[in-house]
Amino acid sequence: MILRGLRMMFKSTPPKIRISKRRQTKTAQEILDMLKKFLEEESAEPVEYLCGVWEQQKRGVTYAELRRAVKAGAIDTKWLRQWSEDYNRVVVEKLEPVWRKALASGASSNPLLRGGRLSWDSQSQRITEWVLERGGIFAEGCTKGQREAIQALLEYQLTEKLPIDHFCQAVMPCIGLTQRQAKSTMILYHRTKKDLIKDGLKTEAAHKKALSIAQKYAEQQHQRRALTIAQTEMAAAWNYGAEEAVRQAQEQRLIGHVVRRWCTSGDDRVCESCAALDGTEVEMDSRFNATTKTGSILSVEYPPLHSMCGCAVEYIEVQE
Ligand SMILES: [Zn+2]
Repeated sequence: MILRGLRMMFKSTPPKIRISKRRQTKTAQEILDMLKKFLEEESAEPVEYLCGVWEQQKRGVTYAELRRAVKAGAIDTKWLRQWSEDYNRVVVEKLEPVWRKALASGASSNPLLRGGRLSWDSQSQRITEWVLERGGIFAEGCTKGQREAIQALLEYQLTEKLPIDHFCQAVMPCIGLTQRQAKSTMILYHRTKKDLIKDGLKTEAAHKKALSIAQKYAEQQHQRRALTIAQTEMAAAWNYGAEEAVRQAQEQRLIGHVVRRWCTSGDDRVCESCAALDGTEVEMDSRFNATTKTGSILSVEYPPLHSMCGCAVEYIEVQE
């Protein structure tokens, strides 16, 4: 076993925050590379699956229902039930298998446990609870986000008063987008249409052209959202797997006292909050405290800190 000094033994608890900007150690870089490789190799399938779900959801909404929703200024509850069912199915059919693969990959990433030393229990109580909890949060969050997105469009219509048929056609491609994406799609449609009319096009022709541009844009946004979900969900499972492996190894008495060190990928895309955490060490039962853009403290056990976060944790044995 590797004994990494007595430093931690003399630290009082709660210890921790030690910030240093530095190049990653060889071990940390290896871990980060493994995570990156996993995310790159495994994203395509869940991305395609999610885009397929949104296609289905678009087909599940009729123009008659949409017109009624516009008149009422509120979303059809039938859609909400359907979306909630859809996202629960996404969890069972796609995310659970993807999570389990990521959990196992994360577990095998730990250099302390290479060479088949750990007898990995993929069905541990903690993993079962993690999958259940994450699945619930995911399905609820996606349904809520989708409701807020369409509701924001209905509110846009209240002030902008587009011709109802034109508006409904522009809402359709937004189903499955986040609120921000849906609004920017609608604004793109509306501005383009106004510009085209100013350029002399007839209303109907301007509508068709603007709609086609908005549809293409929405498609890109769906791809982007799917990638964000896939990578963030896989990164969460991967990092949880790495942590769970350490806990199991401790229970199997393969390793002793371990501290965790936050490691950022170090590329240009690392956000300020993650960069500030780089090199911070905490005990297994403590959390990493990150300062968000707004100055509030976000407390997490392991990465990802945010969507598309590529950070990982290096587990360092400080005492056998
Ligand atoms: Zn990060």
